Amino acid sequence: MNSHYLSTSRSNPQFYTFSQLFEHTESTANGVQLESQWKDQTQQTAWIEFWQREGHELLEQKWHKHYPEYKQQIEEATAAERATWEELWQQHASKQSEHFWHIFTCAFENYENDLFNGLGDVDQPLSNVNEHLADLNIDQGVENPESCDELYFSANDDPYSLDEEQQLKLLGLPTSFGAPLARKQRKPKPQSVSDSESDSDNDSTLLIMSKDTDKDLALHSVQSRSIKKKKRQKVPNGRIPEFMQNSTMLKYWFKRFSLFSRFDRGILLDHESWFSVTPEKIAKQTALRLSGDIVVDAFCGCGGNAIQFANTCERVIAIDIDANKLAMAKHNATIYGVAHKIEFIHADFMQFANSTRLRPNVVFLSPPWGGPGYQKQATFDIEQHLLPLGATQLMQHARRLSDNIGIFLPRSSNIKQVIALSHVGGQCEVEHNYLDTRLVAITAYYGSLVKNQQPEEKTNDESTK
Ligand code: ADP
Repeated sequence: MNSHYLSTSRSNPQFYTFSQLFEHTESTANGVQLESQWKDQTQQTAWIEFWQREGHELLEQKWHKHYPEYKQQIEEATAAERATWEELWQQHASKQSEHFWHIFTCAFENYENDLFNGLGDVDQPLSNVNEHLADLNIDQGVENPESCDELYFSANDDPYSLDEEQQLKLLGLPTSFGAPLARKQRKPKPQSVSDSESDSDNDSTLLIMSKDTDKDLALHSVQSRSIKKKKRQKVPNGRIPEFMQNSTMLKYWFKRFSLFSRFDRGILLDHESWFSVTPEKIAKQTALRLSGDIVVDAFCGCGGNAIQFANTCERVIAIDIDANKLAMAKHNATIYGVAHKIEFIHADFMQFANSTRLRPNVVFLSPPWGGPGYQKQATFDIEQHLLPLGATQLMQHARRLSDNIGIFLPRSSNIKQVIALSHVGGQCEVEHNYLDTRLVAITAYYGSLVKNQQPEEKTNDESTK
């Protein structure tokens, strides 16, 4: 019944998503029981799936970062040198896989805590992920999480004005796992080790290998061939618009490239949209999940989701009640070269749903969460606090168009209510979306969007065939 998926991406901010299937039963309102082996099984499965899919590429990426000279030297290497490189690779692979496993378990424990919070199951033993992060020397940089909500800034959020460490100092924020601290800890490199500009999260791992044993001298000799130093490129400071130059808005300005990677090509956002637009990596993931023929984006705002849907769907119907936002969405879609695939409709979604004959394959709901105040609620009641209607009523409108629905909700949403949005006996998939170490939101899927659905109960006739 329960199943898990994990996906990551290697560029900053790190994007993680874990998802879980739930069935809506008569007793869901009283509590949701996860199987006793839930954690061990799902963590193990998710790790294997993740490492098989991404492990080799991650190892290679780090390898070439640490040893940029490898590609050139291996061509002319002698048999002995090849053997030494091979040994170095084995050490690298083993250290790195251990390191990634540790990161993964920390991420998973974040997820476990967030899932149990959403289920409101205070009796579940919560692991203390901070202890594990301390083991890893990862600086989360968050002393008061409430004061810096949704701050998933990282290296590329503002590449033009501040370097990563300056941003962290200024904002006191979490970043990709381990990067800033590892840099602080970096020891002076021996001459023989690559001196490329690396922002790797554990360069020190390989330096530890450089002890003066015979074996390591051999490794040094492999490494000591000509090494080209990369020059760090200086880029001019970016300009922050005046209305963003205050402590509240500055943090949103720094995450502009997380919202739209093409931000500097002229993306337009009104004041409200700075708080509510879906970060691009999450919008991409949702678009992959909702790919198909026709999708309705019911509350499209400035277009963060609609633009990504245009890349995975034949046709996008983007609806918003605010004509200004709709105009910005169209402009932003032009920047991404996808405006021709989107039909922009200025309407109230509920009225639209009640009157249209359109039957899209999928409806995506990203309804107003009632402004940043949602963050203060330990558990967000999706029946009371979503606008303009409670979630059940909103789903009823959406189901006039299609049973296949995705809904983007505050991260602290009451998951029992989320499960109850599916029909009794039906399933839903609840996906937790993380950028760096922070849970940004959850996305729930219904109808045929649920992955790996259990087959419908077979009738006696069918099961005897
Ligand atoms: P949040 O509370 O998450 O910040 P917003 O207030 O920005 O969300 O609302 C999301 C979008 O939904 C906005 O672009 C808003 O104009 C739009 N919207 C609100 N009500 C409706 C409606 N009834 N029909 C269509 N769009 C709507």
